[in-house]
Amino acid sequence: MPRFDVIVVGAGPAGSTAARELAGSGARVLVVDRAQFPRYKACGGGIPQRTERMLPFPIDSVVEDSVHLLDVAYRGGMRFQRDSEAPFAHMVMRDRFDDLLLSHAKAAGAEFRPGTTVRALEQRGDGVRVTADGFKAEASFLVCADGAHSPVGKMAGLGAGIAECAAWEVEVSAPPAALRRYRSTALIELGYRPWGYAWLFPKANNLSIGIVVPPGQAGRMKDYVRAYLRRLGLENAPTEIARGHKIRFRRGSEPIAGGRALLAGDAAGLADEFTEEGIGYAVQSGRLAARNVLRALHGDGGLARYERDIDAEIMPELRAARLTGFMFYGMLRHVPRPWMFAAGHFPPLWDAFFAVQRGESTYAREVARVPLLPALAAKMVHD
Ligand SMILES: Cc1cc2nc3c(=O)[nH]c(=O)nc-3n(C[C@H](O)[C@H](O)[C@H](O)COP(=O)(O)OP(=O)(O)OC[C@H]3O[C@@H](n4cnc5c(N)ncnc54)[C@H](O)[C@@H]3O)c2cc1C
Repeated sequence: MPRFDVIVVGAGPAGSTAARELAGSGARVLVVDRAQFPRYKACGGGIPQRTERMLPFPIDSVVEDSVHLLDVAYRGGMRFQRDSEAPFAHMVMRDRFDDLLLSHAKAAGAEFRPGTTVRALEQRGDGVRVTADGFKAEASFLVCADGAHSPVGKMAGLGAGIAECAAWEVEVSAPPAALRRYRSTALIELGYRPWGYAWLFPKANNLSIGIVVPPGQAGRMKDYVRAYLRRLGLENAPTEIARGHKIRFRRGSEPIAGGRALLAGDAAGLADEFTEEGIGYAVQSGRLAARNVLRALHGDGGLARYERDIDAEIMPELRAARLTGFMFYGMLRHVPRPWMFAAGHFPPLWDAFFAVQRGESTYAREVARVPLLPALAAKMVHD
């Protein structure tokens, strides 16, 4: 049976980043994914510049558009636009983006085994054994980067209690006039209760249109998206792909490391509750996973430090994004018209948002500027 230093389950941004950094430091790494790559992933494919900055290689080859204009509406009305004057996010299709990240992991020396669904996991004192259909392998450590459903994370006994929400994505083959119309523009539609938003993100040959809502509303997502397409005048445009997926949110100290395994990315619930983005946190946690597995491989303690690193380096940002989300969606729920008016006429709000997206600021820094925000956000949640 082949033996590695590390097995990484999942070749999304979290897994490929961990694998690249581990292999680049000399570890023997096997990455397995149940999919054949390139694979589709339900995702808006919005890559804020702060996420791009975390990657040590250019992503231009997979960027389909870059957006500087934000077009915000409330169920089709009360529309306003804010121009960040320089791009704040790139737009990618995840099959190509994830394949690029994986190619860098392979170039660093990681071995990749596609079409390999992990069905069982054994943890022993000296390592782990994974079993897939017709394949077994052992390693000293396991990185579970197996996404929001995280079946292998569950086998490792990790990730219990992480909150979740539901999202739905359609890839629309829009007529050329519509593609031209939405160039460089991200559309956000608010007005879903108690929170949530729909989006239109422009790509080179299609429009990615989707919605994110609380889990209890998963059954209504398709109707919401159909109605949104009607408001956009795109109800007759062919839909190439339509798919749903969960997004998970770690809110406290839910267990994400134990024994010889740890969770990274969506498996660990590292997505924010304001924009529901997770790619940047997947990359960041993949790096922290690699750092801690390397330490453990060199005999410098176990993986418990990984959880402390996530608590110190990612959780403050997720907490600040959650407060921002509670406040923003709470105001929308209670006083939609005045809040949309205020949001549209208060440039500092969007300057702060664009600065966070570009990596020039953080949610934590912006939230600290508004001392009353935590109390206000808490009130919004409980009202
Ligand atoms: C509709 C939607 C829109 C989104 N839009 C954005 C956005 O615009 N910007 C943003 O930053 N974030 C967005 N997100 C969140 C983002 O998609 C995730 O945060 C990101 O994909 C997390 O990366 P990951 O590497 O943790 O997991 P994933 O990218 O989900 O990768 C997990 C991998 O694990 C593999 N796997 C699962 N189980 C097994 C198994 N048993 N054996 C082997 N392999 C397995 C899967 O095949 C998959 O390739 C969106 C999410 C959704 C659902």
